[in-house]
Amino acid sequence: MRADIQEILLDEEALEKRVSELGAKISEEYFGKNPILIGILKGSAVFLSDLMRKITIPVEIDFLKASSYGSAAQSCGVVQLENDLSIEVKNRTIILVEDIVDTGNTVKYLLERFSGLGAADVKICSLLNKKGRREQIVAPDYIGFEIPNAFVVGYGLDYAQKYRNLPYIGILKKEIYQ
Ligand code: 5GP
Repeated sequence: MRADIQEILLDEEALEKRVSELGAKISEEYFGKNPILIGILKGSAVFLSDLMRKITIPVEIDFLKASSYGSAAQSCGVVQLENDLSIEVKNRTIILVEDIVDTGNTVKYLLERFSGLGAADVKICSLLNKKGRREQIVAPDYIGFEIPNAFVVGYGLDYAQKYRNLPYIGILKKEIYQ
C-alpha cells in the first residue's frame, strides 16, 4: 500500500498529538453538557475511536452512514444517508465527527437535518479541512488540520474502500485513481 502513496502528510505522531488536543478542548468546552458524538461512517471511524478516548467528560456515541462519493475520487454532490440514529437528538447537544470537510455538501446537509430534528446545538469536529473546493458556506467548529487540495487516504479515509487501515494520512498517487 505504501507504494501507492505519493507523500505522507500527517504521520502517527502528529495525528496522536492533535487528536489529544481536540479531546482536551472538547472536554473543557462541553463540561456538563453530555454531548452526543455522531461519527459519520465510514471515514470517521478511526478518528472517532481515538478522539472519544481523549475526552474526559461523559459522552454518548452514535453513527450515521453518509456517502457522496460512490467509488470515485470526486464527490457527486448528492448526499445519501444509509441509516438512522438510535439515540433521540431532540434538545440534545450534538458534535458531528467527520473525517474531512471538502465541498461542504455533507455537513451542510447534516446540519439542516439535525436542526430539523430539534437538536439544541450542533457543532462540527472534522479531522481535516480542505477549503479549496468548497461549494457550501460551512466551517467546522473544531479542525484537526488544514490540508491542501489533494486526494488523501489513511486513518479511516479510503479510495474504493482501500487504505483505511493506514496509520498515517497520505496523498494518493494520481495514477491510482485517474
Ligand atoms: P464533502 O461532502 O465535504 O465534499 O465531502 C465529505 C466526504 O467526502 C468526506 O467525509 C469523505 O468521505 C469524502 N472526501 C472528501 N475529500 C476526500 C479525500 O481527499 N479523500 C478521501 N478518501 N475522501 C474524501
